[in-house]
Amino acid sequence: MLRLFVSAAARDGGQVRIAGAELRHLRTLRLGPGDRLIVFDDGGAEHEVVLERLGAQVAEATIVGTRRTTRESPLDLVLAPALLKGSKLDLVVEKATEIGVRRIAPVLSRLTIGRGAHVERWRRLAVAASKQSARTTVPVVDAPVPLAELLAAPWPSLRLLAWEEEGSGRFDALPAVADAVVIVVGPEGGFAADEVAAARAAGFTTVGLGGRVLRAETAAIVAATLCQHRWGDG
Ligand code: SAH
Repeated sequence: MLRLFVSAAARDGGQVRIAGAELRHLRTLRLGPGDRLIVFDDGGAEHEVVLERLGAQVAEATIVGTRRTTRESPLDLVLAPALLKGSKLDLVVEKATEIGVRRIAPVLSRLTIGRGAHVERWRRLAVAASKQSARTTVPVVDAPVPLAELLAAPWPSLRLLAWEEEGSGRFDALPAVADAVVIVVGPEGGFAADEVAAARAAGFTTVGLGGRVLRAETAAIVAATLCQHRWGDG
């Protein structure tokens, strides 16, 4: 069944209003009154609805069933990838969403080449990937911040920074249990030595992702996967 995302605010009692990009999605699939679909909201609820009316600006649907599902990982995982060249961060946002990351916090570090902050596009991609992967919440996508600011934020106690000079094996040395993790991954040019030192001073542990140097976008996807595998449901 088609899955659409609506904000919790679009619900009014037993009715749901569908507008904007989600309405366009309905139209491209030629759904009409009487058709059933699933809408999920940012409050973790999933509603089965029947379409009632399709207007030019808004469609209305009646809720016939609601459930709270448990498809989210128990791990509160924040991925903080450096901005990347071109549209490479698009891939990271899409894959991180599929992997179950709860928040994507892009960073600007000294050797970052990519400059474009396409926050609205990333948010749209996160919504699309959440629908596709049957997630019940959409990850938050922050506006990029400088590395120093990111390092100073009040993150959970397990703070990681992927650093290719760590090589392999360091994940095994980390605590066996964690319910919240933030992991920072560098840009194409890597992190400068003083950035790594600043991260350590801010309580971050440097971790390796294997013996090979990964491209930055691969590293971000692998970092999220390894965290989900070790502490989440992956
Ligand atoms: N410093 C290299 C490559 C940077 S790779 C250069 O000068 O070209 C881009 C980012 O991916 C790194 O900053 C790091 O966060 C991550 N990364 C890539 N391979 C990694 C590995 N084997 N272990 C940990 N992190 C890795």
